[in-house]
Amino acid sequence: MPAERPRESPAQRALHKLGLRRPIDLALHLPLRYEDETRIVPLADAHDGEVVQIAATVVGSEIRPGPRRQLLVTVDDGTDRCLLRFFSFYPSHQKALAPGARIRVRGEVRGGFAGRQMLHPQFRPDTGELPTALTPVYPTTAGLPQSYLRKAVLAGLARADLSETLPTPQAWSLRAALDFLHHPAPEVSLAALEDRSHPAWQRLKAEELLAQQLSQLTAKRERDKLRAPRLPATAGGVRDGLLATLPFALTGAQQRVVGEIAADLALHQPMHRLLQGDVGSGKTVVAALAAAVCMDAGWQCALMAPTEILAEQHFRKLADWLEPLLAARGRGIAWLGGGQKKKDREAQLARIASGEAALVVGTHAVIQDKVQFQCLALAVIDEQHRFGVAQRLALRAKLAHAGQEPHMLMMSATPIPRTLAMSYYADLDVSTIDELPPGRTPVVTRVVHEGRRDEVVARIGEQLREGRQVYWVCPLIEESEAVDLVNATATHAELSDALPGVLVGLLHARMAPAEKKAVMALFTEGLMGVLVSTTVIEVGVDVPNASLMVIEHAERFGLSQLHQLRGRVGRGAAASACVLLYSTGDAPRLGETARARLKAMAETTDGFEIARRDLEIRGPGEFLGERQSGAALLRFADLEEDAGLLAWARELAPRMLDDNPLLAERHVQRWLGGKAEFLKA
Ligand code: ADP
Ligand code: MG
Repeated sequence: MPAERPRESPAQRALHKLGLRRPIDLALHLPLRYEDETRIVPLADAHDGEVVQIAATVVGSEIRPGPRRQLLVTVDDGTDRCLLRFFSFYPSHQKALAPGARIRVRGEVRGGFAGRQMLHPQFRPDTGELPTALTPVYPTTAGLPQSYLRKAVLAGLARADLSETLPTPQAWSLRAALDFLHHPAPEVSLAALEDRSHPAWQRLKAEELLAQQLSQLTAKRERDKLRAPRLPATAGGVRDGLLATLPFALTGAQQRVVGEIAADLALHQPMHRLLQGDVGSGKTVVAALAAAVCMDAGWQCALMAPTEILAEQHFRKLADWLEPLLAARGRGIAWLGGGQKKKDREAQLARIASGEAALVVGTHAVIQDKVQFQCLALAVIDEQHRFGVAQRLALRAKLAHAGQEPHMLMMSATPIPRTLAMSYYADLDVSTIDELPPGRTPVVTRVVHEGRRDEVVARIGEQLREGRQVYWVCPLIEESEAVDLVNATATHAELSDALPGVLVGLLHARMAPAEKKAVMALFTEGLMGVLVSTTVIEVGVDVPNASLMVIEHAERFGLSQLHQLRGRVGRGAAASACVLLYSTGDAPRLGETARARLKAMAETTDGFEIARRDLEIRGPGEFLGERQSGAALLRFADLEEDAGLLAWARELAPRMLDDNPLLAERHVQRWLGGKAEFLKA
């Protein structure tokens, strides 16, 4: 019987959340910055604004009552006095800061001789020797105090196997570099440490880049061994038929990416291509043309989307474009969704198994085991970031019976900056649609305080009188669908009252698929003036007549999410607008990141610029989302700044794989651990 696993403490859970499981993971968790606790500064010598550590005696302590209760502590170090101010505190704080206590205090000194102050300084009993090394401050997460993390890192450092994996000796050994970076001597320049130019940092960045290059190269060599059906483009088929009947001409960017995809499909090697293009840039028709090439070669294509609504919409559009062309050739399109009747589903499965269905459109239902394709050669995944690795792998396995793999086209409206794409998507080619179809008017964005809600409702009335339609999006207040629903329902009632004679609809995640479909149909057909929804419309819906979007509690959405939402308007020729309603709650003003996000939204509609700013505001880990972060993402090195090291790693990786595969394997394991598998999907 397996031993019962001890329960994880919250701090351990937080460690795991950061990906810190093995001793080596902890050893490679390097400080963000350092604090100098090696010196005690006399208060009288501290300048206004300087961060210092003092050693002093508590001479007074009181709690000031009022709406913002404060703990006020006066300390004296023999050269001067200083007031310590705490807005949040526990009884244990008061006890530790009782008059007579000798403490070490570290914080920013404010004010000169008129009275020095520190706001929320760190403090500890003034006992024991001063540390001899700078104190590291590690990247952390909620529920994981620095003190716990420091001990965990120390333990990891002591237990990790740090034997060398680089084939040639280096000036700094891995052990020396890590010991140094975790506990640098106080005389080291903080600047060299913090801009990461110190040789110890260089050593670690080189290691990291090498691991990345090795894993990319391994993935590529493995893919080179795989085979996919060759799908050369042929004349006079479905593709030519579609091009001839499309109601618009392709943009230059669409033509270019269609060419890139067709070139891949003609090869025996499976395509792994990411098609990125801003919302509304026209990715669907590109997917349709790729599917057409595949079907013309006599094979089947699958298209999978993350939500029922989006998959339905694709189905309708693709059926519109392709059904007549396929029917003339004795083939058709199959649909696989969640809410499907058993009998209908079985009929669809039969069409897929026989190969009569040349194209299969649907949700996750497409990857279920029961779905047996006769000959799947191309899989298209829309909004690919909403799917997990396992789901992509399941699709790839759908041609395993023939000993081959289908080509993969992954689509995303969240553009990823090039450097990030290169470092994260190990083995993925990227095509980019960097041009919107002509005739679009840019969406004007206004940031409006919740207090002016009435004006916004009046504005909705104006749009409706002009025959336009309006989206109103309610936020995720808590990670709870039930609470979101209460909020959306209240807004729905409010708007129904304020706009008599207008059909106001409500769409939320808890509705049955058939209900959602019915609401969406009313809106798509123009019968419904206003659609109130929780974030279910986040992805892909296309109603060109909608000209106004109101986003309630916009401060609670992420930047990319806001951008995606805004992309639902401005799809037709009408001037369109997006109103970002914000509320500050009890606080006097918005937090800094929320402000930065709303400002970015008002300033630009360019998805790439938005992505760049989002990355700046959030950092790469969060930017890519938990599922996608970690793996090949570079934590320390920067592809541009460390171009020299990158060149070294690029040159070394193939030689190392050929001459010393075991060492290469150990190196990748050390840096990427179990995550290396993920790079292959
Ligand atoms: P997304 O890239 O966000 O998936 P869609 O494929 O939904 O964008 O396209 C947005 C809208 O633009 C659709 O109504 C589509 O038919 C239309 N469209 C796509 N390409 C063109 C084009 N070259 N010219 C005009 N309209 C186009
Ligand atoms: Mg789309």
